[in-house]
Amino acid sequence: MRSNVVFIRFLSGKIMLTSLILLSLLGSGCGVQSSANTQKKSAIRTLIVGGGSSHDFDKWYKEVDVATLEKDGFASVKYTSNVSEVLAQLANLDVLILANNQPMEDPALRKAIFAFVAEGKGLIIAHAGLWYNWKDWPEYNQQLAGGGSNSHDKYGPFDVTVVDTKHPVTKGVPEKFNLSDERYYYKPDPSGPGIKVLASSSAQGSEVIYPSVFVVNNSKARIVGIALGHDAASHDLPAYQILLRNAVKWVSRK
Ligand SMILES: [Zn+2]
Repeated sequence: MRSNVVFIRFLSGKIMLTSLILLSLLGSGCGVQSSANTQKKSAIRTLIVGGGSSHDFDKWYKEVDVATLEKDGFASVKYTSNVSEVLAQLANLDVLILANNQPMEDPALRKAIFAFVAEGKGLIIAHAGLWYNWKDWPEYNQQLAGGGSNSHDKYGPFDVTVVDTKHPVTKGVPEKFNLSDERYYYKPDPSGPGIKVLASSSAQGSEVIYPSVFVVNNSKARIVGIALGHDAASHDLPAYQILLRNAVKWVSRK
């Protein structure tokens, strides 16, 4: 009899212990959930706009760049190639990334993008967005892109050198890396606000150096231009991915 009582006590003790372990596991589970919630709340709200010609925007911006930015809850990213959706989303954004070379003709959208910048929100203009795309909207290139490109080397390998290693946008980026891309002949507009070059490109057989990553001076907002980004060779490259994440963080001021 006595041994039965001891056994029952042992059993109930075991059940208690199991319950305690279960409770603590549940507790830590809640902890994980709440920290995920916190991460989601502080994730940098970003919209990437793509669409237009000559590029697989869905592959490199919608798929790869969104994944690069959403990794570890860093940013919460939406992508659109429907420019009519952009205006309604601006109010809920920290960072706008313009990679599109399709027109943005709606005067209200154009005005809203300038207002977004005037509010001090973050803007990144990437690759095809740095082209002189719109003859009827010179303010875009002059003020937002700080200039533009209307030509590039034939797609191929070139070197990118970080010229400002102290800037938050180049933190953790190799001082020199090589990639295959279109080397944009981006030139700052002398009548624009001016730029600060963070990384530049040099190609064999050419003495001309062009900006690859730069800050466009603006009194209210932080604006970064990234001339790289034609296809997989850039978007899959760790150096590009670090630059993109750094740029999003820096322009968002978060
Ligand atoms: Zn391209």
